[in-house]
Amino acid sequence: MYANIIIDISHESVDRVFQYRVPRELEGEIEAGKQVYIPFGAGSRQRKGYVVELTDEVQYEESKIKDVAGIVKGSVTAQSQLIWLAWWMKERYGSTMNQALKTVLPVKQKIKESPKRRIRCLLSPEALEEAVKEAERKKYKARLRLLTAFRGQGSIHYEEAMSRLGLTASSIKPLEEAGAISVEVAERYRNPLAGMQPLGEGIGTGAAIQLTAAQRMAADTMTGEYSRGIRGTYLIHGITGSGKTEVYMEFISHVVGAGKQVIVLIPEISLTWQTVMRFYRRFGNRVSVLNSRMSAGERYDQYERARTGDIDMIIGPRSALFAPFERLGLIIIDEEHENSYKSELSPRYDAREAAAMRAKISGASLVLGSATPSLESYTKALKGEYRLLTLKERAKAQASLPKAEVVDLREELKSGNRSIFSRRLKELIEDRLSKGEQTMLFINRRGYASFVSCRSCGEALKCPHCDVTLTLHRDGQMRCHYCGHTAPQPKRCPSCGSPYIAPFGTGTQKIEELAVKMFPQARVLRMDMDTTSKKGGHQEILSSFGRGEADILIGTQMIVKGHDFPKVTLVSALAADLSLYASDYRCSEETFALLTQAAGRAGRGDRLGTMVIQTYQPDHYSILTAAKQDYEAFYSQEMAFRRMLGYPPAMGLLTIQLQSPREDALAGAADMLFASLESLKEKGEEAPAFIGPVNAPIYKVNDIYRKILYIKHENYDILIQIRKMAEQRLKELAGCEHVASYYDLT
Ligand code: ADP
Ligand code: ZN
Ligand code: ZN
Repeated sequence: MYANIIIDISHESVDRVFQYRVPRELEGEIEAGKQVYIPFGAGSRQRKGYVVELTDEVQYEESKIKDVAGIVKGSVTAQSQLIWLAWWMKERYGSTMNQALKTVLPVKQKIKESPKRRIRCLLSPEALEEAVKEAERKKYKARLRLLTAFRGQGSIHYEEAMSRLGLTASSIKPLEEAGAISVEVAERYRNPLAGMQPLGEGIGTGAAIQLTAAQRMAADTMTGEYSRGIRGTYLIHGITGSGKTEVYMEFISHVVGAGKQVIVLIPEISLTWQTVMRFYRRFGNRVSVLNSRMSAGERYDQYERARTGDIDMIIGPRSALFAPFERLGLIIIDEEHENSYKSELSPRYDAREAAAMRAKISGASLVLGSATPSLESYTKALKGEYRLLTLKERAKAQASLPKAEVVDLREELKSGNRSIFSRRLKELIEDRLSKGEQTMLFINRRGYASFVSCRSCGEALKCPHCDVTLTLHRDGQMRCHYCGHTAPQPKRCPSCGSPYIAPFGTGTQKIEELAVKMFPQARVLRMDMDTTSKKGGHQEILSSFGRGEADILIGTQMIVKGHDFPKVTLVSALAADLSLYASDYRCSEETFALLTQAAGRAGRGDRLGTMVIQTYQPDHYSILTAAKQDYEAFYSQEMAFRRMLGYPPAMGLLTIQLQSPREDALAGAADMLFASLESLKEKGEEAPAFIGPVNAPIYKVNDIYRKILYIKHENYDILIQIRKMAEQRLKELAGCEHVASYYDLT
């Protein structure tokens, strides 16, 4: 048996593994993640290394392979686990080991000044005066200076006390031991939640509430298995408002009660005080939080608190997955369908997959939860890889699912209404205004890509060779991003001949103007990239809306993700098609999830909510199934589509993006790579499918040109091999020095 080992991370050769033999007496003791001693380099000095995998395959000259010298004492530390995870990420997603290590190990900030401390007086004012008198009597001068400094203030700066008052650590020690004072560490090491005020509705008192029967069943399944030593992976499919969070908390309290630690991932967008406070109220100071507004130093401090066992639980976006807990027992991923769990930076990891790996090496359970699970996760649940737990009803007795209405915008056009507000929507908004209830209006535009559609028949212009819409480029040409098909924008609709054919895309600002004009009595708020760019802008707008300071909130899809406003009884997707025609095989799934989640925003309180879906494609299955909140129906139609076209999760998809400032070098490299990989096709039935190279949706960015190659295969391992081959080929091919490559494997 052999062990592949990476050398201690301070060493520069972390990018490659070294092979060592596992001596018989260590067999069974060495496993991935273990830290071991190995002879290395000149004079065979001993170094520390990490085992990344065990294998029976010899990769070097057998006679030159040395033995592992021993195991570093102590348990598998969190650091070892994370380094192993970095190795796995590098292999799985294609990055350098350095990039992977930087991702999993928080960067230590050089702390220039010593951490600030405070000395707090623990005596009552009377006791303080007593102590002052006693110090005077006994002529303890230093102590007297300290005690008198406390008059009128509860605490003083440690550093200041030392210099200005001329104290030393030993001169304050007796007071500390007597319980008269305490020395407190710096602000920055404290819980960022400690100052938060529990405002608003829907947070609860923090006490465990009586679970519904369905919640109880889900929670008991997980805690029961946990008690029996089973570390499972669970998918909680619960409709919006079904009380998934309560189920998580029940499981968390069981795991924390067993002395273990917990990581909770939630999308940044729902990392609001509302959500965080629910956890804080229940688990108090043992919970901490990470978010993107924190500086690197602030984040590092919270990782430190995790490492030292100061906390049992951390809540944060995908990077919280790397919290260095030594006793990790549970990872929860809420809203697991969200795109933000995929990293855009190298290594382009998927936090759901990485979490599964981390759970496995740490011996933790994993819970994924969503009202609209990703097709990947649901498929795994159906196959039995994940245990599926379902919550079909809203948890609160009075709350029921909103009613959804689909409005056909083609009919509106026929009757002469060209406004973005259908007659039905206008009527409902006026009704809400008269009752003092709130409305949310959103457009689900994604990115900048714009497509062309017919306002009469609703058809979007599609590629004749692929089932995706063509993207309109600035030069007026429409292109297919999958096969490269290009055509000019036609004057008339190819399906019905109508001249009402136009690029789709309406801005939130425009909608705000129209809303103000149509509903002059309403107070209107807008939230989009423009209004939220300043720090905290996002939170401010939502809080103001939550306090009832506006009647209508207008925005992009970000307004309908994860927020809970009890007075909202009307939600509308103004043009539900917008996200349906993105040139991406996932657009139906995203549209379904978005509309279903949005409907869940209406009627969170005790009043029944309504969702209005305005669309030019009322018969599209994403829209129909979202209106019925019928996940299973959507899933089976969408899976049929994915199977037919060979997209994930029916097949694995490897995307290779090449980029270069030199257009000719890029084209040459792309073609050569394609040709050299395509020769794999001759391998017979198992041959992968190659598509491309095509220009990226945005071909030139910052004067860098980009091309994409797609490779499909049922077997992930084959795609990983192809990725490694592509990396190798690009190194060897002449003329590729100026071409960079990025890989994504789904
Ligand atoms: P989800 O995470 O599935 O959207 P939440 O956990 O946020 O659902 O619950 C939705 C609402 O229902 C919250 O206001 C929550 O306090 C309430 N709730 C959850 N479980 C119960 C219960 N068992 N009894 C009463 N109210 C509940
Ligand atoms: Zn038409
Ligand atoms: Zn095409």
